[in-house]
Amino acid sequence: MTVLVIAEHDHATVKPATLNTVTAGIACQSGDVHVLVAGANAAEAAAAAAKIVGVAKVIAADSPSLAENLAENVAAQVLAIAKNYSHILFPATANGKNVAPRVAAKLDVAQISDVTKVDSPDTFERPIYAGNAIAIVQSSDAIKVITVRTTGFDPAAATGGSATVENAEGVADSGKSSFVGREVTKSERPELTAAKIIVSGGRALGSAEKFTEVMAPLADKLNAGLGASRAAVDAGYAPNDWQVGQTGKIVAPQLYIACGISGAIQHLAGMKDSKVIVAINKDPEAPIFSVADYGLEADLFTAVPELVKAL
Ligand SMILES: Cc1cc2nc3c(=O)[nH]c(=O)nc-3n(C[C@H](O)[C@H](O)[C@H](O)COP(=O)(O)OP(=O)(O)OC[C@H]3O[C@@H](n4cnc5c(N)ncnc54)[C@H](O)[C@@H]3O)c2cc1C
Repeated sequence: MTVLVIAEHDHATVKPATLNTVTAGIACQSGDVHVLVAGANAAEAAAAAAKIVGVAKVIAADSPSLAENLAENVAAQVLAIAKNYSHILFPATANGKNVAPRVAAKLDVAQISDVTKVDSPDTFERPIYAGNAIAIVQSSDAIKVITVRTTGFDPAAATGGSATVENAEGVADSGKSSFVGREVTKSERPELTAAKIIVSGGRALGSAEKFTEVMAPLADKLNAGLGASRAAVDAGYAPNDWQVGQTGKIVAPQLYIACGISGAIQHLAGMKDSKVIVAINKDPEAPIFSVADYGLEADLFTAVPELVKAL
């Protein structure tokens, strides 16, 4: 049978999470990997998906009903072709997690969530208890609906492939939801889940003003994404979409610098797979030091500006 990967895209480009999901699809060893690009006027995104190495076919479903990525319509589009596949994989992003359960429910199968490793075509590994244990899940469902934790898989090469592109009829609007508006945070900085370097600040920063004053210059110097602990977000020091952790974003950059973050398990669950972890904390007992490759016991209000100056 064949594997279907649901592309995350903006109608023109394919988002990086799709590349990691393709790698997971290949690991399912169940035959060819197809990619569904469900969008509106999304030929460019379909062409980009066709270049991903390892993809045999791109199914381009184009319809005005798919313009705003409404979960009801995207799920209907997936269901229209689902019976042709043994595995249907979504990135475990907000979008993927919005659509996958609808597909699983309609197919009457159990969703396998947040997969970090594929052991065999029917056996998968996923973290539980905030990453403190790994569950090995075997599924006997005929169609396996899976969300993929993208940090668990290397990205497939974005160029070099030459998949065929097949047009599919786009579904009609379900009428169950309608698009009202979207407020998008615009930032010059790299998106957290795609950033190679992330600098994160915690409650120790003390205010939104100090967070910006101390953390932004370091992020600027390193061309890094800016992250935050939940305590910093809850206190209003940093916006919600900067939160790293169990209930925030799961990241695994090359370098993660945690400043004034204690290292609660819920925070570690979102960043402990980072390649190199640097922690700056004035408490030598802070749990963040247990996962840090480099630890600096210091006051961040002195250490971070000095680091910026030295860079
Ligand atoms: C269900 C659930 C889900 C959660 N999800 C998340 C999540 O997704 N992400 C997340 O981050 N948290 C999450 N939390 C919250 C988590 O438990 C912690 O409360 C939170 O991570 C603490 O944030 P913090 O490290 O910034 O603050 P604190 O724990 O207060 O730590 C502040 C640290 O700063 C240090 N410090 C203070 N002043 C300085 C200074 N001048 N220089 C250097 N260091 C200094 C202190 O020594 C301390 O270690 C969740 C909690 C629950 C219950």
